[in-house]
Amino acid sequence: MNRKLKIVLIAAGVIITPVLLSPLPRFKAPLSTVVEARDGSLLGARIADDGQWRFPPSDSVPYKFEKALITFEDKYFYYHPGINPVSIIRALISNIKAGEIVSGGSTITMQVARISRGNRPRTYCEKIIEMLSAVKLEIFRSKKEILKMYVSNAPFGGNTVGLDAAAWRYSGISSNNLSWAEAAAYAVLPNSPSLVFPGKNQEILKSRRDELLRKLYRKNYLDSLTLVLALEEPLPGEPGQLPSEAPHLTDYFFKNNRGERVHTTLDPALQEKVIETINSHQKTLENNFIFNSACIVVSVENGEVLAYVGNSTLTETALHGGDVDIIQALRSTGSILKPVLYAGMQFSGDILPNTLVPDVPTRFPGFSPKNFDRSFSGAVTADYALSQSLNIPSVRMLQKYDPENFLALLKKTGFTTFHKPANYYGLSLILGGGETSLWELSGVYASLSRVLNRFIVEKKYNVTDYHPPVLVKDGEPGKTDTSALSIPLSASSIWLTYEALQRVNRPESETGWQYFSSSQNLAWKTGTSFGFRDAWAVGTTPEYVIGVWAGNADGEGRPGLTGVTAAAPILFDIFNVMGTSKSFIQPAEEMTTIKVCSQSGYRAGPDCPDTHEIWSCLAGLRSDVCPYHKIVHLNKAKTLRVTSACADPAEIINEPWFVLPPAMEYFYKQKHPEYKTLPPPAPGCTDDKSIPVMEFIYPTPGVKIFIPRDQIGLLTRIIPEVAHRNPSKRIYWHLDDRYITTTRFMHQIEILAASGLHILTAVDEDGNSIHCSFSITGTIERESGGRTQ
Ligand SMILES: [Zn+2]
Repeated sequence: MNRKLKIVLIAAGVIITPVLLSPLPRFKAPLSTVVEARDGSLLGARIADDGQWRFPPSDSVPYKFEKALITFEDKYFYYHPGINPVSIIRALISNIKAGEIVSGGSTITMQVARISRGNRPRTYCEKIIEMLSAVKLEIFRSKKEILKMYVSNAPFGGNTVGLDAAAWRYSGISSNNLSWAEAAAYAVLPNSPSLVFPGKNQEILKSRRDELLRKLYRKNYLDSLTLVLALEEPLPGEPGQLPSEAPHLTDYFFKNNRGERVHTTLDPALQEKVIETINSHQKTLENNFIFNSACIVVSVENGEVLAYVGNSTLTETALHGGDVDIIQALRSTGSILKPVLYAGMQFSGDILPNTLVPDVPTRFPGFSPKNFDRSFSGAVTADYALSQSLNIPSVRMLQKYDPENFLALLKKTGFTTFHKPANYYGLSLILGGGETSLWELSGVYASLSRVLNRFIVEKKYNVTDYHPPVLVKDGEPGKTDTSALSIPLSASSIWLTYEALQRVNRPESETGWQYFSSSQNLAWKTGTSFGFRDAWAVGTTPEYVIGVWAGNADGEGRPGLTGVTAAAPILFDIFNVMGTSKSFIQPAEEMTTIKVCSQSGYRAGPDCPDTHEIWSCLAGLRSDVCPYHKIVHLNKAKTLRVTSACADPAEIINEPWFVLPPAMEYFYKQKHPEYKTLPPPAPGCTDDKSIPVMEFIYPTPGVKIFIPRDQIGLLTRIIPEVAHRNPSKRIYWHLDDRYITTTRFMHQIEILAASGLHILTAVDEDGNSIHCSFSITGTIERESGGRTQ
């Protein structure tokens, strides 16, 4: 080998080997958790595990800071290989003259190396390692990356590390919004971070900043006017409080994404408005010892969360469970699931919007639902029952739909919190027997609205439209088109449900609805759980969903804590801020018109005299035909019922008659004066047995009555009740063929029965009789806790 070449190689090796052996600067210190809004502004942050405010690295270096930093620290940054021989020699000379290290001659790259080594004492040995590391860093990283490392890790005094944390703590703004004066001050600070503390060396910091500003002016980065104004700007002040715009969400990410910078979907202006609204209502709620409320706003289009207020941020709230994130808390649903059942029944064709549903005293073992105002209407239309949130008709509807089916439907639409089997919840599921969170509830409403919107535009379904809300920007994987076959609810069933939910008339018990009557475009529902513990209100437009909860985090109920009085006012205040001009569009392509009986709301039968057409889901074509219109045979005056056996057939008038079952009739006719009861049979005529005159209200035929374990062997007290079309008729009661008693007007008795199978018989004075078999068993079943409002 050529001798010269050997020397060159050895020389190269002598230089390169130490560089390769030197450490590559890395930063492993724990990071703060930083939560940003959709526009990148800071919503909140939590300190790093080592007590430092050290924000995770950001994607870019702010322009003004970069210019200021390079001008101040290292003008040849973009040209040198990590070390600047000229400045090193200059530094060496001044150090030798001074007899100690007064100048480092460090490049930005060398400073990165020094910071990564924990700012060790300045010795010549340490300096050499820094230089070698800097060269290595230049080999393996780009200039931009090195600059970013500096910006993220430079010390800014106290426990503040990195430009981002410094800008927020000292100036209360993002580093992207720094003025030239601020950028210059922050460029100077890492060199002597102790200058930042107010009152201490402020003159030195100011003179260094001003000198740098003048240099930047000479380099034409800023004009003369900007320079004059910049020189007048105050220096960065004392470290202040970081923004706390979404404390519960920040806590959530501190738990789940610690040390990360999370770019959320929150709209900062709306978030601020929602906090304001919650806090202003909370002041009123506090007067009634209701200490917590929460609100979430979700965009329908993509499920992005626009506002997330997990709890009020008032001082009083802080003393009463204010740290609980109510949006994620599981609470009793009250009536808030009723719309899902209604939609499911429209989709399956089990009911039409105006189908009459029984609203009569209803008792199940251990479970006796009551309407909010404790009244009975005999029968109400399904959509009225939904908009008025009547409990008994809802339970009857669930009985028809089947709790097992309903539970499956809830799961398909996106609820994950109903873990128990259907028989655990029983019929009380529709009244708050299960628990869910504001998060899931709002997610499901957003999914339903999304399904409807897509169908209007694309005339098709996409099962991936059902998904939970999205909190992190671009955090959700892309959606794929799938077949329309397995959708849980059709667009038409959702539209019909929203139609009912847009009705402004609300139960009289829930006063104040008039106040909301201007909000025609909002489909909304309230819910109140048993014992006034949870007040819910959720509303949707084609664009967004607003979910509100009010109550006490510790579960304490309060009189007057209802969905309409406590939660709905918050919902409507936020709705009024956001507004909407859009209404849900009817998916007419997927619907059909159906001729229905005007009195019963069922599909019209041949005997229904008054009919009209309504829009329905396609399955409505298979729905039941009106069971209440019967042809009755009357005398000429239409005052008595006759048969061909007791009257001249030529004189008999056949007429359709609207006949409700006895129990429904009893209550229905009290609220409907136009209801005509059947004329009595003519003397000597036998009654038409196809129209029952009596009906058991309780027990329900075939029911199993469970008795508590400690009462096994004892007689169980039950209270049977019969509805008679003519209450003045006497009824004779028999239990297992043994006469018990006679009743008149009030056909309710009390009996004692032992375990086993029983038959209860009621016979009226005309000889009409009905039977009811029931059994009493000692097997314990969970009592359905459905005594909800
Ligand atoms: Zn009819």
